[in-house]
Amino acid sequence: MKRLEDKVAIITGAARGIGFSIAEKISEHGATSVIIDLDKKAVDTAVQQIDDIGNRAIGFTADVTNSEEIASIFKEIHKEFGKIDILINNAGITKDGLLMKMKESDWDAVINVNLKGTFICTQKVSRYMLKNRSGIIVNIASVIGLMGNAGQANYAASKGGIIALTKSSAKEFASRNIRVNAVAPGFIQTEMTDKLPQEIIDNYSAAIPLSRMGTATDVANLCVFLASDEAGYITGQTIQVDGGLIM
Ligand code: NAP
Repeated sequence: MKRLEDKVAIITGAARGIGFSIAEKISEHGATSVIIDLDKKAVDTAVQQIDDIGNRAIGFTADVTNSEEIASIFKEIHKEFGKIDILINNAGITKDGLLMKMKESDWDAVINVNLKGTFICTQKVSRYMLKNRSGIIVNIASVIGLMGNAGQANYAASKGGIIALTKSSAKEFASRNIRVNAVAPGFIQTEMTDKLPQEIIDNYSAAIPLSRMGTATDVANLCVFLASDEAGYITGQTIQVDGGLIM
């Protein structure tokens, strides 16, 4: 069953990793995925991959922290399609380090991309969704935003901030039929985690009740559900995809 027929969905940071899986799944369900990411070549490749299997995607190169660039891209998308139905705020970075030694520039960079980027894209898309009295926003948080993590104070604060932003925007937009939810992935297998030694992966997996790392598809499936009409009575929530890691 196609759940998102003819919808227009923007996914940030979608040239690879979890964002790409979300874009792939959303297109599989009949929507046009608009991929936004930093590297033009990576964006083009991602769009081509979706196009090759007969689904719809277009791409833009942009930085989510650049509000003018984001505003102008969203305007172009709206002009082309006449609407923007879905925004998935997925772009995110890490710059880990112990709090005592953390450089202010590493704090700023992570808060800027993860939290401010989510704010900017939400603000810029809201003018179209508010006017249309309809819209769905899904923010990709992390279990780290719920439980904290040594060595990731900046990342945890950014993801905790995203969870609070989700609740505030859900309350602010609810009367205009715009739902805002957050997804908190646990330990997900991506290019980043592929590089970890097997021993570390085994140790992490042992702490997960379902005894395995998650896949990007596990996260994408939840995003499709939250973006669909079947989730029509769900807003302001943070839903974990973590194999039971925290409960
Ligand atoms: P990833 O593989 O590093 O992909 C992130 C993508 O976002 C990259 O293509 C990156 O571009 C892009 N990006 C970074 N900064 C950007 C910016 N300022 N503007 C636009 N695009 C930007 O990461 P991932 O593992 O798929 O993670 C995706 C999201 O899930 C993140 O928000 C992350 O915090 C969250 N998450 C991941 C896990 C996990 O285990 N992987 C767990 C919990 C939450 P470049 O490659 O060019 O830098």
